[in-house]
Amino acid sequence: MAEGKIIKALSGFYYVLSEGQITQCRGRGVFRKNKVTPLVGDYVEFQAENETEGYILKVFERKNELVRPPIANVDQAILVFSAREPDFSTGLLDRFLVLVESKEIDPLICITKMDLLKQDEIQEVEKYAEQYRSFGYEVVATSSKTEEGIEELAPYMRDKTSVFAGQSGVGKSSLLNVIKPELELKTAMISSHLGRGKHTTRHVELIHIGDGLVADTPGFSSLEFTDIEVEDLPHYFPEMVEASEQCKFRGCLHINEPKCAVKKAVETGDIPGYRYDHYLTFHQEIKDRKPRY
Ligand code: GDP
Ligand code: ZN
Repeated sequence: MAEGKIIKALSGFYYVLSEGQITQCRGRGVFRKNKVTPLVGDYVEFQAENETEGYILKVFERKNELVRPPIANVDQAILVFSAREPDFSTGLLDRFLVLVESKEIDPLICITKMDLLKQDEIQEVEKYAEQYRSFGYEVVATSSKTEEGIEELAPYMRDKTSVFAGQSGVGKSSLLNVIKPELELKTAMISSHLGRGKHTTRHVELIHIGDGLVADTPGFSSLEFTDIEVEDLPHYFPEMVEASEQCKFRGCLHINEPKCAVKKAVETGDIPGYRYDHYLTFHQEIKDRKPRY
């Protein structure tokens, strides 16, 4: 018996990576009773029948699970945002950050197309980068054209399962192609562009990048807060978590409560106004969500 990780699922076979070897497995036995369908990213116990084939005996508990694309145990989401074309948007970035944090996935913010900026525009983007770093996030500024920042990305992928996420056209495929030129990922990434939803059943595969695994399909194709409660939302804004220690009420939602340290920090400029505005927008969106039955 051995343990490994499913890196690909296709036509009823699961391809399990274990100690550098891939075994083509079928599902069998115990996990079927629990109605667990193995997912790409799952850690499994399997029995090899010969050098290349075997069957899965057990699926280990997942740390998280994405629905579109279907993938389990994601450690890191590389949130790709272009500096231009399309313009950098903190609103969309904050939305991704909340979704990623709610799944207990570590975000890495990657700003692309830096080569398209003039000097004064670079400073503006760096100002944002500094702000997000001050909230505790990692930010890397890159260009797939000049290869600026590309080397900086590699160590972040080490020993992790990562997914790329971000709007269509921000440069995800280009980024992967400069990191790993032998991959021709263009079509893979394009076929699952955000919001199109017609390729929802497309298979996902984890590919080796250095010492890490990266999904060949971008994650977080749905940007709705379906699984997030209003009470939990403040936890996904790290700078608010810190400020809220001084709020008068425990469980303060930083909306209308008196003596709210978060609102105070927004007034003094310690928390940027746009972050709080996004918080309010998301809060309202979750409150307006139709109840699920
Ligand atoms: P994806 O949809 O996120 O996978 O984005 P693509 O990688 O397909 O890139 C979208 C467009 O932006 C293409 O025309 C790329 O050539 C262009 N692009 C991507 N990265 C860069 C970059 O770093 N600099 C410039 N100038 N253009 C880029
Ligand atoms: Zn408060």
